[in-house]
Amino acid sequence: MQQTKIILEESEIPTHWYNVIADMPNPPAPPLGPDGNPVTPDALAAIFPEALIEQEVSSERWIEIPEEVRQGYTMWRPSPMFRAHRLEQALGTPARIYYKYEGVSPAGSHKPNTALAQAWYNKQAGIKRLTTETGAGQWGSSLALVGQMFGLEIRVYMVKVSYEQKPFRRSMMQTWGAEVVASPSNLTESGRKILAQHPDSPGSLGIAISEAVEEAASREDTNYALGSVLNHVLLHQTIIGLEAKKQFEKLGEYPDAIFAPCGGGSNFGGVAFPFLADKAAGKEVRLVAVEPTSCPTLTKGHYAYDFGDAVGLTPLLKMYTLGHDFVPPGIHAGGLRYHGDSALVSQLYNEGLIDAVAVPQLATFEAGVQFARAEGIIPAPESNHAIRACIDEALRCKETGEPKVLFFNLSGHGHFDMAAYDKYFSGELEDFEYPEEAIEEALHHLPRVGAAGG
Ligand SMILES: *Cc1c(COP(=O)(O)O)cnc(C)c1O
Repeated sequence: MQQTKIILEESEIPTHWYNVIADMPNPPAPPLGPDGNPVTPDALAAIFPEALIEQEVSSERWIEIPEEVRQGYTMWRPSPMFRAHRLEQALGTPARIYYKYEGVSPAGSHKPNTALAQAWYNKQAGIKRLTTETGAGQWGSSLALVGQMFGLEIRVYMVKVSYEQKPFRRSMMQTWGAEVVASPSNLTESGRKILAQHPDSPGSLGIAISEAVEEAASREDTNYALGSVLNHVLLHQTIIGLEAKKQFEKLGEYPDAIFAPCGGGSNFGGVAFPFLADKAAGKEVRLVAVEPTSCPTLTKGHYAYDFGDAVGLTPLLKMYTLGHDFVPPGIHAGGLRYHGDSALVSQLYNEGLIDAVAVPQLATFEAGVQFARAEGIIPAPESNHAIRACIDEALRCKETGEPKVLFFNLSGHGHFDMAAYDKYFSGELEDFEYPEEAIEEALHHLPRVGAAGG
């Protein structure tokens, strides 16, 4: 019998997260305050616990996973790695395809890997409530899950268009005890400001972040939790790549190329960074972040300092950005809608250490359906981006006859995203390329760092 699943024991759950900063050729560009000077760690203390701020700026290579967090991880970790035998056959490729399946978490994606850690550190710091934003609902449901595990109250600002279109993610959050508010809301100054200008605003992640940050900053007992982008989030997600390395070791294989969908960069960083350490040590491995052509942050955005939110409450991060006032096109059903990207992923891309490709919407769903028919699991629309890029590479291998080892992160399942699949099957989805003019225009809205710094 051929082996399909590569399974680790619970005792093999990594004891440390991997911090890529230790192996980066250049130190990360620092976050800047409104005055153009680097943000001091205390400026973040209004919304984050000290331990997470320390992780955000740490350059230690290995950071120990607290025992209780490791114990909490046993609810769904280690996650299985699969060999995609049936997909390989369907494609007729000589490539060997592997994927790590993060859909085994109760929320159905990789996001609880960091939610659990963030909730634990906040609990240790005496925090009672967490606010956050959510787009499609994966992050909000992940935080709702761990809020329940640690007895924290959770308020989720959910992008209005998703709040209306994805009622089941909302009910999931409510099942785990979280409060869900459609954003923009009139609960915050930021929300009221947007509503005054655009009463029909469908909302955006940037706006929802403004609301959640504003509330957390104004209450002693409340902190804010972010599901992607920040260094500590990517750090926690490295548990994926670290487990994958152990799984490849058991097989005596090593990947030639790794693909992951890239929104804010957390599952990409999580799966890819531990392999980047090998790359820094001279090993050949291609690390590919895959994004939609309708939100082409890495492949077409500007590498510049920009706000993380729409209103301009967050520090400035040096990242690839489509402009903090980016509102994703309504026809886009595939997630991955954030205007920016992790500063670490951005810098590594800028320095040529990682690759990025953009794929169109219809081809991603086509890949997702092909995968589901071969492998059984129905992928999250976000994950379909990685599957598309991996299948394209497998088809190139078919032409050249190269038996490459390809690996992708199946970041989540699509059970709550069947409305997007419905649209695909009924021909309602279109390809959309975010227009060059809009990207050009965004340049004029970027904060003027030098000028502000004086
Ligand atoms: C949130 C999400 C993503 C994108 O976010 P990253 O921070 O870029 O990982 C990808 N896949 C799934 C299933 C998600 O829930």
